[in-house]
Amino acid sequence: MGKGKAFIFTAPSGSGKTTIVKHLLEVNPNLGFSISASTRDKRGRSEENGKDYYFLSKEEFRQKIEEDAFVEWEEVYTGNYYGTLKQEVQNIWDEGKHVVFDVEVKGAQNLKRYFGDDALAIFVKVPSMEILKERLTGRGTESAESLSQRFYRAEFEMTFENKFDVTLVNENLDESFKKAEELVNDFLKK
Ligand code: ADP
Ligand code: 5GP
Repeated sequence: MGKGKAFIFTAPSGSGKTTIVKHLLEVNPNLGFSISASTRDKRGRSEENGKDYYFLSKEEFRQKIEEDAFVEWEEVYTGNYYGTLKQEVQNIWDEGKHVVFDVEVKGAQNLKRYFGDDALAIFVKVPSMEILKERLTGRGTESAESLSQRFYRAEFEMTFENKFDVTLVNENLDESFKKAEELVNDFLKK
């Protein structure tokens, strides 16, 4: 069984972790994205089943819990479940790649516990709550109800900053891309 390293990106929704993770996957062919399972609705044309998430019904998700198919899972927003699939991680390692996760803070802590020293956990921080709100609203993907749930949860998620290995302040995007590349390369050299 192959076993690579793991990079866990975590942050409140709207901080920019998906943007940073997508960049890393473009520039580094040795990384593979762990596609999570989720019961939330797919975002119109911007997302694809099997690429951004495996979009499952609640029943299918419950079935996976029973089969013990998840490394971790959380009910991130009321009625919306998200989880990391064991098989997904194994497939990436079997390809000889290192795995990259984009998860909320509790899942990130569980993944860090699970992978230990083989994992680097990176908290992506926004300079302020105002900027986070602007970014999340500007993305234009969320309903009013979903935005308010995300703002509410972001306050809670911001308090987790010190629980991870490093903080990446996402102010200027190009600088964040460089910083993220450096963090990955340095960790792989260790
Ligand atoms: P998350 O995955 O953490 O929810 P996203 O990557 O979707 O966040 O980013 C939220 C929005 O903010 C997107 O519209 C993205 O293009 C934008 N964004 C990300 N980083 C920056 C940045 N440094 N400056 C300005 N806008 C950004
Ligand atoms: P979104 O709906 O914006 O795609 O994701 C909402 C939140 O769920 C984000 O913080 C995202 O990182 C997180 N998330 C995505 N997949 C998983 C997962 O497998 N497990 C956990 N715990 N959180 C996840």
